[in-house]
Amino acid sequence: MDLELRNKVVIVTGGAKGIGASIVRAVAREGGNAVIVDRDKAAGEKLAIELRSEGANCSVIAAELTSGESCSKVVNQVLKDSNSLFALINNAGVNDRIGLEHGSPDKYMASLQRNLFHYYNMAHYALPHLKRSKGTIINIASKTAITGQGGTSGYESAKGAILALTREWAVELLEFGIRVNAIVPAEVMTPLYQQWLSSFPNPEEKMKNIISKIPFEKRMTTPEEIAAMAVFLLSSKAAGHITGQHLFVDGGYVHLDRALS
Ligand code: NAP
Repeated sequence: MDLELRNKVVIVTGGAKGIGASIVRAVAREGGNAVIVDRDKAAGEKLAIELRSEGANCSVIAAELTSGESCSKVVNQVLKDSNSLFALINNAGVNDRIGLEHGSPDKYMASLQRNLFHYYNMAHYALPHLKRSKGTIINIASKTAITGQGGTSGYESAKGAILALTREWAVELLEFGIRVNAIVPAEVMTPLYQQWLSSFPNPEEKMKNIISKIPFEKRMTTPEEIAAMAVFLLSSKAAGHITGQHLFVDGGYVHLDRALS
């Protein structure tokens, strides 16, 4: 099925690695024009060069998104380069483990800056352009907003707020024909996940334990499976009547009966 994403400009924050990079690849495969926005310039350039060598239209903007000013600059740059914007995929984030006990008010605020404020800032600056294209927004959240994880208040509050903002923006943007949805991953192997896993004394055992609790096929979700949902949601043709939804791509991790395992 042609998802009709050809030549459509799609910003993917955190698009250089992990889930974001898989989304960039999927957008490129559909003929879209993916803009990788990431602080890891080298990884972004490497991916863009690879995709361009396959004929895709892909560019990189190196940016640290924690300031509102940098988000504004990114959107301006995209418009200068491409003159249009169809979609914003808010994806950059880090489970930085700023907990209630082992955190501080300042660290908590900094975690919100890393995980939440740029989702709002990017959407705010992108909005006038999304109105013109009747575009769409996808927010990448996390299962931890629903299940809790312990020791990670900043990340959790950000991800909970991201789910709430998805509904809020879906309502606010109805009149402009802009759809807003969230994808909720649970366990996906990425550089971030690998880093988190290696913080345990026995990462292999921890991994086995986690996998044993994933109901469907006792395996992790692949980044490609998250990306498949993202391109489906991007498509006005395929997902034109889907808005305000939280789509769990998690092998049943959050909602299926724990007694199953
Ligand atoms: P990842 O492997 O760390 O890739 C994310 C990319 O975004 C990295 O290149 C990272 O750069 C960049 N980035 C992060 N914060 C940034 C910022 N403030 N400004 C610019 N670039 C930034 O992460 P991932 O596992 O793919 O996660 C992507 C999203 O999925 C996150 O929102 C995460 O919360 C969510 N998620 C992931 C999982 C999972 O199992 N992996 C589960 C639930 C939710 P650095 O490498 O320099 O940090």
